[in-house]
Amino acid sequence: MKLSFEQIIAGYNKVNMLTALREVGGVIQGKCNRRMVECLCDCGNTTVISIDHYKRSKIVSCGCHHKKRISEATKTHGLSKTAEYKVWQGMKGRCHNPNHADYPMWGGRGVEVSKEWFSFESFITDMGNRPTPEYTLERIDNSKGYCKDNCKWATRKEQRANVSKWGSVTRHGVML
Ligand SMILES: [Zn+2]
Repeated sequence: MKLSFEQIIAGYNKVNMLTALREVGGVIQGKCNRRMVECLCDCGNTTVISIDHYKRSKIVSCGCHHKKRISEATKTHGLSKTAEYKVWQGMKGRCHNPNHADYPMWGGRGVEVSKEWFSFESFITDMGNRPTPEYTLERIDNSKGYCKDNCKWATRKEQRANVSKWGSVTRHGVML
C-alpha cells in the first residue's frame, strides 16, 4: 500500500534547514522514479528533493549552505574545489538551456536532468566527489537521462569501452 505524504513525513516536519511543505510529482524517467517533497529553506527559498534524502538528513539546505561552503573553498583552494559544480552546471546547461552551445546535441535530443538534480546538493549527495580529474560524468544507459541510477564517474578508458558498446562519440570529455 502506498503511504500518504503525511504518513511518510510524520516526525520529520523539519530536517536541518528545510521544512517539508508538500509532495510534488515524482520523476518518471527510466528507473529514476522517486517521491519528491517541496521544502522551505530557512533562507526563504524553496527546493524540491527526494523524500528519502530529506528524511535521511542528506540535504542540509536549498543549496545556500553549499554555495557558502563553495565560495569559502574557492577562496582557499582555488577552482579545483569547484570541479563538481562545473560538471553539474555543464550538465544542466547542455540539457535545459536552449542557448547553450551544446544544447542541440543534448536537450535538443531529449536528454534530461532529473528534477532532483536541479539541486546541486542532491547531485553531489548522490554522486560524491569526482575521484580524480581523469573522471568524467557518464550515463550508464545513453537512452536515459541524468539521474542517480543512470550516472557514474568514469575514466576515459571505461568510456571507450562504452563507446563501442553504445556506438557513441565523446565531445568535450563527456559521453553523448
Ligand atoms: Zn537556503
